Amino acid sequence: MTNISHNLAQIHQLIEQAAHKHHRASSDILLLAVSKVQPISALEEAYNAGQRHFGENYVQELEQKATALGNLGIIWHFIGPIQSNKTRIVAEHCHWVHSLDREKVAKRLSDQRPAHLPPLQVCIQVNIDNEETKSGVSTCELPALVSAIEQLPNLKLRGFMAIPSKAAPKAAFQAMQALAQQYQLQTLSMGMSADMEDAIAAGSTIVRIGTALFGPRQAAAQSSQ
Ligand SMILES: *Cc1c(COP(=O)(O)O)cnc(C)c1O
Repeated sequence: MTNISHNLAQIHQLIEQAAHKHHRASSDILLLAVSKVQPISALEEAYNAGQRHFGENYVQELEQKATALGNLGIIWHFIGPIQSNKTRIVAEHCHWVHSLDREKVAKRLSDQRPAHLPPLQVCIQVNIDNEETKSGVSTCELPALVSAIEQLPNLKLRGFMAIPSKAAPKAAFQAMQALAQQYQLQTLSMGMSADMEDAIAAGSTIVRIGTALFGPRQAAAQSSQ
């Protein structure tokens, strides 16, 4: 087994254990492989070990990878900040966007979604700890963005995403769970390599795992964003 396939098997096992411990079905939890900054060969390795959902943070990198791996039937998720002048690439290549936090971007994604593709599945990113430096809407801004997205023909609102502060992730995950219940939405994108179990305990349905799967990232990400 390669490292990546070994890691993948181990993560599936951890998901299994966490689900069992918290009385959930592991089949309700999707493992999203966060492949930002990783070379194409790493994605291929994960793909060959059975991984189908990949998450990218940078538009240019997403475009390169989606084009290079276009024949594999990968399901691409966009999880990084989206500038409004980069929406077309996301609308054309992705199946999911987790990081939606502006009406302007939502409108452009809907307008630019190619007609032959199903609606883009989206999660609103919530800045659940109200951190100044973080993307995402506050819970006060949430109702307006939810109703704006629900009006857009080529977007399908599935749920919410959060990146809680390291200080108290459990409380933040629970607050996210309450929000999903309040809005009657099924998808909760939360939990990364370091806090996956707490996220699963609070009802996460998509865990976004990078480091635990691919190993540490090179420090330098893209500068052209
Ligand atoms: C990089 C990233 C991840 C993965 O983080 P790891 O700690 O490497 O698992 C998850 N979600 C988002 C939004 C990211 O940017």
